[in-house]
Amino acid sequence: MIKSINKDHNFIKMEHKWLKYWYDEGIVEKYLHKNDRSEKYFSFLDGPITANNPMGVHHAWGRTYKDLWSKFYNLLDFKQRFQNGFDCQGLWVEVEVEKELGLKSKKDIENLVPGNKFASIAKFVDLCKQRVYRFSKIQTEQSKRLGYFADWEHSYYTMSDENNYMIWTFLKKCYENGWIYKGQESVPWCPRCQTAISQHEMLTEDYKEVVHEAIYMKFKVKSQKSEVKTETKNSKVNEYLLVWTTTPWTIPANIAVAVEEDYEYSLVEVKNGECYWLAANLVKTVLADDVKKVIKTVKGKELVGLKYEGPFDHLPRVSKVAKEYSHKFHTVVATDEKILPISLEEGTGLVHTAVSAGTEDFKLGKKLGLPMIPVIDDEANYLDSLGEFSFKNAKKNPRLILDYMEKNGYAYKIHNYKHRYPVCWRCKTELVWKVAEEWYIAMDKSPLLSQKSKVKSQKLNTKTLRERMMEVAKKIKWMPEFGLDRELDWLKNMDDWLISKKNRYWGLSLPIYECKKCGYFTVIGSKEELKEKAVKGWDKFEGHSPHKPYIDEVKVKCEKCGEIVSRVDDVGNPWLDAGIVAYSTIKENNQGKPLYKIDKEKWRKWFPAHFITESFPGQFKNWFYALIAMSTVMEDEPPFKRVLGFGTLLGEDGRPMHKSWGNSIEFNEGADKIGVDVMRWMYVRQNPSDNMLFGYKKADEVRRQFYLLLWNVYKFFVDYFNLDQFKIQTSNLKMTIKNSKFNKLNILDQWILSRFSWLVDFVEQSLKNFDARSAALEIERYVLDLSTWYIRRSRDRVWVNSDDKDDKEAFYNTMYFILVNLSIILSPFLPFVSEEMYKNLTGKESVHLESWPKIDKNLYNKKLEEEMGVARKIVEVGHSKRKEMKVKVRMPLLKLDIKIDVDPSLIREEILIVILEELNIKNIIVNNKFRYPEKEVILSDDELRKEGEVRDLIRQIQNKRKEMGLKPNQAIKLTLPKKIFDRKDDIVKKVVAKEVLMGDNLMIEI
Ligand SMILES: [Zn+2]
Ligand SMILES: [Zn+2]
Repeated sequence: MIKSINKDHNFIKMEHKWLKYWYDEGIVEKYLHKNDRSEKYFSFLDGPITANNPMGVHHAWGRTYKDLWSKFYNLLDFKQRFQNGFDCQGLWVEVEVEKELGLKSKKDIENLVPGNKFASIAKFVDLCKQRVYRFSKIQTEQSKRLGYFADWEHSYYTMSDENNYMIWTFLKKCYENGWIYKGQESVPWCPRCQTAISQHEMLTEDYKEVVHEAIYMKFKVKSQKSEVKTETKNSKVNEYLLVWTTTPWTIPANIAVAVEEDYEYSLVEVKNGECYWLAANLVKTVLADDVKKVIKTVKGKELVGLKYEGPFDHLPRVSKVAKEYSHKFHTVVATDEKILPISLEEGTGLVHTAVSAGTEDFKLGKKLGLPMIPVIDDEANYLDSLGEFSFKNAKKNPRLILDYMEKNGYAYKIHNYKHRYPVCWRCKTELVWKVAEEWYIAMDKSPLLSQKSKVKSQKLNTKTLRERMMEVAKKIKWMPEFGLDRELDWLKNMDDWLISKKNRYWGLSLPIYECKKCGYFTVIGSKEELKEKAVKGWDKFEGHSPHKPYIDEVKVKCEKCGEIVSRVDDVGNPWLDAGIVAYSTIKENNQGKPLYKIDKEKWRKWFPAHFITESFPGQFKNWFYALIAMSTVMEDEPPFKRVLGFGTLLGEDGRPMHKSWGNSIEFNEGADKIGVDVMRWMYVRQNPSDNMLFGYKKADEVRRQFYLLLWNVYKFFVDYFNLDQFKIQTSNLKMTIKNSKFNKLNILDQWILSRFSWLVDFVEQSLKNFDARSAALEIERYVLDLSTWYIRRSRDRVWVNSDDKDDKEAFYNTMYFILVNLSIILSPFLPFVSEEMYKNLTGKESVHLESWPKIDKNLYNKKLEEEMGVARKIVEVGHSKRKEMKVKVRMPLLKLDIKIDVDPSLIREEILIVILEELNIKNIIVNNKFRYPEKEVILSDDELRKEGEVRDLIRQIQNKRKEMGLKPNQAIKLTLPKKIFDRKDDIVKKVVAKEVLMGDNLMIEI
C-alpha cells in the first residue's frame, strides 16, 4: 500500500528519519558491500579533510560530489573502497591546541609539564592527536547528515603509522636518487609559529591588505667609475642613490642596490642641492616639485659597479661582512629580470637588495655571489652585534629603523603605503624573511648514477623530478581543462620542495639522520630499517607512534665516522602527509597493512585512482602537486586518472563567508534550515569551474523551482492513486514497447516515457563524464515537463474526472514506472527524498541498494517528441493570444486563429486534440491555412457561454471545498442556481456531491 502524504510534510524531519533508518537498519553497511563480488572496480581517492574544526558548507560541496559518484557507481554495480580520509598533522592543529591551552610561544609548549621538556612535548603531541580524533568524529557525524555513505569505521588518518612510514619510503627513494639536500636560504617565516612557510603554503588568500610606512632613502655614492662623470662639483659629497623599500626592517641587511641595465636613470639635482640617481621615468612621480634640474641621463648599466655608503655600516654585524667581502659589498648590481624584475610603476627603479631577507633578493644574491647579513632570529628579533637594535623585535617596532634613518639624514621621504602583504596561513601573523637551514627535494637534478647498478635491466631514467612530474601531469584528465595548464605552470616555476618545518612538534618525523661530526646524512626508509640500524633507544620508542618525542630516543651510527647520530629536529611539510595516500591507504577492506607493501597486484586493482575531486584554489600547489610528486618518485605514474576541480564557495552577496559579515552559514545550521537534499541540489547544479554563491535565498529558489515541483508531482500521483484505489502489480515496472500495456497508453504517456528513456540515458552518460551539472539541469527540465505538461494535461484522467478505466490504468502505470525509476536515478543526488519516494512506492528495503535502471531504449520516440515540441509552441502562442484578447482559459472559444513559424501539419491527430483541450477551444486555425478539425465544430454562443459557466462553477465549488478543509472523497450537499441547473449532471460528479438542490445562490453543505 502506498501511504498518503500529509499536506504539511516536514522535509527536515523526513531527512532525520531516513538517517536513523540507514544506520539503525544496517542499510549503509549493505550499500558498502553490495558489489563486493563485482569484477568492475571504481577507485576513488579521497582528499583528506583537515580534522581540526567542524565541517563547513564549502566542504559539503566537494563531499556531495564524492558521494554522488560513489552512489552512482554503486548503482552501476562497481566494487568500491568508500574510504574517507582525515588530514591530521601540522601547524593548523598545533595552533588550535595552543589557543585552547592559552599558550603563546614555543617556550610555553616545552614547559607544559613544568621543568620537563620531554613530558611537555609528549603531552602536547597527544593533545594534538586528541583534537584530531575529536573533530574527525564531529566531521563524520556531519558527513552522515549530508547523506554521505562511506566506510566511516575505517577512515584513514594521515597521522597513522602506515602513512608516516610510507612517507619515509618515499623520502628514502628521493635520497637514493640524490635529491635530498640541506640548503641555506632566505625563506618566508612566521615569527609567531617560528617556522618557515613553504612556497606551497602561500596562497593568494593568505595576503592581507595592510598599510606600512615605506621609505625613500638615500645612499651616498662613494666612488665612481670614471665614465660616469657628473657636472656638479664635489660630486662625491652630493651624489646619492635614491632607493625605495616597503620593509624598512630589512635595511640593516642591505647588501646591494639592483638596477635594470637597459633602463634609463637620471641624476637629478633637488632644491637642497643634493643630487639623486633614479629611473628617468619615475623622476616626476617621486621628486615632483623638488626637481631643480636633471643633470644627466644614462643607461642602468653605467651605474653598475658604483659603491655606496649604507646607514648601518658602523654596526659590527654589518662591518664584518663589509670587510670580508669588500669588493661585493654595497655595490650597484645588474638585476636579472627573471629573478627580480624591476618596476617602473612605483619605487625609484633602484632596488634595495637584502640577500638574507627576501626570496628574490636571495636568488639574485646567489646568482651574483653576494654575501648576506642575517639580521633576525626565529621570533624576528634583531640578532646580536646590531648595536642599539639588537634583541628588539624588527616587525613589531617598524619605527625603530625609520626614526634612525630620519635622524641621521638617510630618509628622503617616508609615506604610508597600502599593499597586499603575505601573512601566515594559520595564525595570520605578517611574515618576515629570514635565513634558515632547511631540507629540500631537488627538482632539477638527474638521479645519482649509482642508481644504475640497482636497475640493471632497465635503462636508467636520467630525467629530473621536475621533468618527470610534468610528464605525469599530462597523463591526467583535468576537469576543467585549464587545470593542466595551471598545474604545469606551477611545476615549471616552482622551486625545490621545502620539506622541513623547524621548531614544530606535531608532524611527520623527517627520517633524516645527520652526523654532527662529519656532516654525512642518511635517510631511513621504514620502521624495520630504523630498528635494524638503531644502536640506542629502541626500547624507549617501541609501542609509540613515530612522532616526537619518542621517535627521537632512537639513535643510529654514522656510516662514515661511527659517531652516534640523532634524527634532525625538524618535522615534515604537512603536504607530504596527504600526498602519499595513494600508496598508504589502499588496504584490504580499508584495514591492516597497505597493499602496496604486502600485495602489489591487489594494490594495482585500485591504482591509479579513477577519480579525485577537490576545490581547485590552492590544490595545484598542494594536494595535486604532492600526489603527483610522490607518485612520480614511487612509480613514475599518475596517482589518479581524472580530477574534477571546483571553485570557491562564497556567500550569496558574492563575498567570502565571514561570521562578522553575517553571510556565513555553519553546516549544521544550513542542513537543518535548508535541508540536505536541497543543499546537495544546489551543489550539483552548479558549474564547478565557477565560484558558487551560497545562501538561504538561493536555497529557496532551488527548493521552489525544482524540489517542491518534484514533490508535488509525486504527491499528485500518490493522492489520486489512493483515491482511485489503484493496485500495484510487479508488471507495473515492466514498461517496454513490447508490453501489452503499452498499447493502452495515450499519446501523453508515450511522450513522457520517451522523454524518460532519453533522460535516464543522458544522466548516465553525463555522470560517466563526471558532469553532474548537465545531468541535474536535464532532470530539472524533465520534472518541469512532468509537472507543467504531462500532469497538467492528465488531470482529467484521474478519479471522478474520468470513467475510462483503461486510460486511468495507463496513467498510473506510466507514473508509477517513472517515479520508481526516477527515484533511483535521483538517489545519488537527493538521497533522502529519493528514499522517501522509492520506499513508499515499492515497499522495498532501500533505494540505495538498487541498480541503475535499464530502460527500454525503444521507448524513445524522436518523432513524437518533435511533434509534441511543435504542439507546445502552438499552445504557448495560443495562450498569449488569449491573454491579448483578455479571455480566461476557462471560457471556451469557438476558434482560435494564430500565426506561428512551425508546421502543424506534421502533428498527429491525438496531439492536436491535446492542443484544443489545453487552449479550451473548439477549432484551431494556424497561419490561415491549417485547420483542425477539418470539419469545423459549430456551437451557439449560448452553448459556449454555458460551458464556460459550468467550468467556472466547478472551480468555485472546488475552491470552497478546499476552504472548508474537506477530504477529496467527502461528499457534499449542493445547491445550484437556477440558470445552470440543467447542467447539474456535468457538475455533481466532478465535485463529489451526494445531493443537489435548486436555489437562488450557490451553496455547499456537508
Ligand atoms: Zn603563524
Ligand atoms: Zn659522521
